[in-house]
Amino acid sequence: MMATETKEFNPDRYNLPSKIVTTTFGLKPKQDHQVFEATETARINDAHSAMYITKTQIGEDGRQKYALFDFGMDAKARNLIRWLQMHDGDLGDIEWWGLTHAHEDHVKGLRVFDEGTPVHVSEHDSHVLLGELPSEGWIPGMKDKIFKRHNAHIEGLDLIIIDDGYIENIGTLAIQALASHGHTSGHMSYLLGPGNNGKYDYVAGDSVDVRKSGKIKNAARPFSEDRRVSHQSIIDLGNFMIANGINLDNILTAHSGESDYPALIEYLMKHQGHIKV
Ligand SMILES: [Zn+2]
Ligand SMILES: [Zn+2]
Repeated sequence: MMATETKEFNPDRYNLPSKIVTTTFGLKPKQDHQVFEATETARINDAHSAMYITKTQIGEDGRQKYALFDFGMDAKARNLIRWLQMHDGDLGDIEWWGLTHAHEDHVKGLRVFDEGTPVHVSEHDSHVLLGELPSEGWIPGMKDKIFKRHNAHIEGLDLIIIDDGYIENIGTLAIQALASHGHTSGHMSYLLGPGNNGKYDYVAGDSVDVRKSGKIKNAARPFSEDRRVSHQSIIDLGNFMIANGINLDNILTAHSGESDYPALIEYLMKHQGHIKV
């Protein structure tokens, strides 16, 4: 479905560099169900974005439990349900829900969860979910091919407000939320680990865009609220990793696959000119 739309979508009409459109819409994460070694985090694609799922613990019912980061654009969450079935699970085996930001392509899958499901989200983006603040960023309209604002309003959730540095241990999984503002005003990312190999994975949502070469760049235009803030968030992220001696393995994005720690350091060197120690 997405492939057809990408072909039909003409960026020139909107005076957009085609590369940006290709990166964000044409470069769907390449490998569905890829598992990232450090924390055994798996990627689940839907037609528009990727969500990430991580093991937490074996529940009292003897079943594997999971934390889920982002929810995709399919209001029936079919790919998520399929993935769970493949792993002898179902939606009831998810016990922790984290949202990177309130954009339509990341929140619609939340509709399959019961009313009162506790979803972790920043304060700013919680107001967008509740319909109290307008959604930020633009998406190409799916039918008429014109840009329209995201619609990220979802009802019936029990929102848990998190801020930079929020830490939660659930089973064997440690989750730390890090502010990565810019793409939306309240964008959050999630640092997971350390995994069995002592390394960490980082669920970056749309705060980082990865080029085909694996290089990192800041959040894509024009889907982002403030790309300069996004740029600073990446600088802050790099310095945070260095200051805390975090052995980062994978940087996992929702639209452009994954990158790694050397690419983050390269970004720092390019834009900061040095490594802060
Ligand atoms: Zn977004
Ligand atoms: Zn997105």
